[in-house]
Amino acid sequence: MSVPLCDLVRDRFDDYHDGLLSPSLAEMVQGHLKTCSACQEEYRLLVSCIGVIRGLEAPAVPPRALRKIVDNLSGPGGGATLPDGAGGPDLEPGLEPS
Ligand SMILES: [Zn+2]
Repeated sequence: MSVPLCDLVRDRFDDYHDGLLSPSLAEMVQGHLKTCSACQEEYRLLVSCIGVIRGLEAPAVPPRALRKIVDNLSGPGGGATLPDGAGGPDLEPGLEPS
């Protein structure tokens, strides 16, 4: 059982959460949330998911991995080398995988 307006509103939850909707659309979503308990629940779930996902994303790329990626990208003959001392294995000896 699906009400078209609910689908419409749920499609915009992401942008609504991030404040990316135009004022009239945001008002539409907000107004619907006030009257539709199913969408309220859906939005609550989405917000908690976003919180978890963004929490996980923050430390996703440690500097060491970033350095590795840059090394790979610059590759043999590549011109994008970092200056000496910009980073390297000896900077973070504790991070070796065991
Ligand atoms: Zn709804």
